[in-house]
Amino acid sequence: VAKGAGKNQWRRYQAHLHGAMVERLELRSALDHAVHEGHFLLAYQPIVDLQTDEPVGFEALVRWHHPTRGVIAPAEFLEVAEESGLVVPMGRWVLDQALRTAAQWWRTLPRSRRPYVSVNVSARQLRDPGFADQVKQSLAWAGVPPKALMLELSEPLLGDAHEAIWPVVADLRDHGVRIAIDDFGTGTSSPNALRRHPIDVVKIDKACLDDLPLVTGIVALARSLDLTVIAEGVESTVHRDLLLRVGAPLGQGYLFSSPLDLTGFSADYLFPARV
Ligand code: C2E
Ligand code: MG
Ligand code: MG
Ligand code: MG
Repeated sequence: VAKGAGKNQWRRYQAHLHGAMVERLELRSALDHAVHEGHFLLAYQPIVDLQTDEPVGFEALVRWHHPTRGVIAPAEFLEVAEESGLVVPMGRWVLDQALRTAAQWWRTLPRSRRPYVSVNVSARQLRDPGFADQVKQSLAWAGVPPKALMLELSEPLLGDAHEAIWPVVADLRDHGVRIAIDDFGTGTSSPNALRRHPIDVVKIDKACLDDLPLVTGIVALARSLDLTVIAEGVESTVHRDLLLRVGAPLGQGYLFSSPLDLTGFSADYLFPARV
């Protein structure tokens, strides 16, 4: 390769890097604006009893409602939100909004049908001093008991690098908030990690659902540790039948419902009459 060609390649590489950096900075400042203006919305996906199809809870999933680009999925902005710390104020909004919605459910529905709301939280949020107090305060303001809330922590948080978050998690669990490990089965954590940490629920990652021995193993492990299982990404009756066969109690996925806009919901909407 001639010297000149190498130089051109280098320049192109530099331009590319520069472009990516500018894009990231722009995303960050737009996200900062969105956090201050509250340009987000939550979609709620039912977590259902696999035997009866009745929802026992709803997972709140954030979307960025961009004034010109429309609705943006979390995959496109969560990394920047994490890095910049904007996930902390965004997460506060998510929690308050989700609990406000849960309060509506708890006010309108009979005792036997009150679903919990499940909220995803990141390491950065859990390391923020005052996180536990903020959650307790939000529960009190919303006027719902702690069991109306579940927090989802993704599987890598079981790793050694995140030991510092667990006293905070334990405090919230003692308060009555449910704790779930999200995306379980794809990572490297050992059964022992589940045993050692204060948790109630294991969510099996959707990538595991086509691996029968793996799903069977996780369900057996969860049962031996007295943990509840929720299978994610249930897309077909094949998935559902497999889960029922291995004794998984709960599932979530497109087979039942995609995430829903529940503004202006009614009880009939949450619990459609079965035909
Ligand atoms: P997750 O917590 O594992 O959520 C499940 C994701 O799978 C959601 O994507 C959901 O829409 C999607 N999904 C649901 N059913 C099916 C199905 O049957 N098949 C398939 N293929 N996918 C299904 P979404 O809403 O794009 O969220 C992506 C991730 O973003 C979430 O994964 C979660 O880790 C994160 N996230 C979402 N909301 C928040 C939030 O408020 N705060 C934080 N920190 N993270 C969030
Ligand atoms: Mg989740
Ligand atoms: Mg998940
Ligand atoms: Mg996932």
